[in-house]
Amino acid sequence: MADEPSEPVAIRLQAAGHRVTRPRLAVVAALRELGEHHTADEVHAHLIRRDTPLPRTSVYNSLVLLADLGVVMRADIGPGAVVYEAADAWHHHFVCRSCGSVHDVPCVIGTPPCLSPGGDVGRVDEAQVIFRGICRNCLGDAQ
Ligand SMILES: [Zn+2]
Ligand SMILES: [Zn+2]
Repeated sequence: MADEPSEPVAIRLQAAGHRVTRPRLAVVAALRELGEHHTADEVHAHLIRRDTPLPRTSVYNSLVLLADLGVVMRADIGPGAVVYEAADAWHHHFVCRSCGSVHDVPCVIGTPPCLSPGGDVGRVDEAQVIFRGICRNCLGDAQ
């Protein structure tokens, strides 16, 4: 899986002036295999399960770089939790207050930043929206 130059991830890393390393490709592969949204710790655990373990800091640093480059998506679902995913389309998230599940929410604009701040804070390149409430599953249980 590593070092395939045709891999779009590799192209995007190189285009941004970054080296294509095994950890960087491995964390993207892990996110694709896992699907949906996962913390750095979950990606780390998955790589151990598939016998391609990486140091935790390497997983974390790779995820941060790839998210900064827009290769993977990062959502701050709080409190204290950041999840990553292999996603092609910019979107937002809904977090259920009851079960903690994370759901994708389409972005009506489609590319960041899709919101403007109310004040002049500087140059904005991204706006993440976290919707919170009770998910459909939990609403169903309560009825
Ligand atoms: Zn729920
Ligand atoms: Zn998502």
